[in-house]
Amino acid sequence: METADRASAPVVVAIDGPSGSGKSTVSRAVAARLGLSFLDTGAMYRAMTWWMLTNDVDVDDADAVAIACGKPVIVSGTDAAGPTITVDGQDVSGPIRGPEVTAGVSAVAAVPQVRTRLVELQRGCAEVAEHGIVAEGRDMGTVVFPDATVKVFLTASEAARAERRAAELRAKGVDEATITAMAADLARRDAADSSRETAPLTQAVDAVLVDTSDLTLEQVIDRIAALVQDRQVRTGA
Ligand code: C5P
Repeated sequence: METADRASAPVVVAIDGPSGSGKSTVSRAVAARLGLSFLDTGAMYRAMTWWMLTNDVDVDDADAVAIACGKPVIVSGTDAAGPTITVDGQDVSGPIRGPEVTAGVSAVAAVPQVRTRLVELQRGCAEVAEHGIVAEGRDMGTVVFPDATVKVFLTASEAARAERRAAELRAKGVDEATITAMAADLARRDAADSSRETAPLTQAVDAVLVDTSDLTLEQVIDRIAALVQDRQVRTGA
């Protein structure tokens, strides 16, 4: 896209990265800081998976998932102060974080028809976001928003990611055996998300790599907010 087009286009901040890189926390905080909307696209894939499980669709049967994926009505509330996700009017923000959904989501997300449907919803969210949007996921910069104002690829060393996730779970009172099992699941999901044929997790050529291993949350937020502000100054957006 030409600079002039970018200047008139709404701000889109595309943040991609593997599980446990801190994407959700960082993206939401950046959105709040800059007064933008916030979209957690992983929650949409989780919501789709929850609906499949609830309606007895075998999540490992790609044909069955493809046929059914047009049915659920998935709505994302994009207020950074309190994002929401509903399926057929039901709040599923709790259930989509459960182990069954987490175990099934990579298979559902690998189905091209699921991606086509959710990408359309994601672009719709950006279109109606009054001041622009921070969208986080695996293919924001590569597929969904190729002309994003700023693209960030967030990473952290495997050790840092596992340690952060374990600390989060420990704080919630989760036992060590479950923490070990969830770490293995995280590695499995990252491998599946990176190797699938449609929209695999990969850094866009024009994305800025931010390694969060040795940065505090505040430092990461500062860095991304500065990137957005710098781009806005340079394009006059
Ligand atoms: O970000 P989160 O871990 O909640 O995402 C759950 C899953 O949704 C990922 O493991 C991935 O399979 C899928 N996903 C995706 N594309 C996105 C966001 C999430 O395939 N843009």
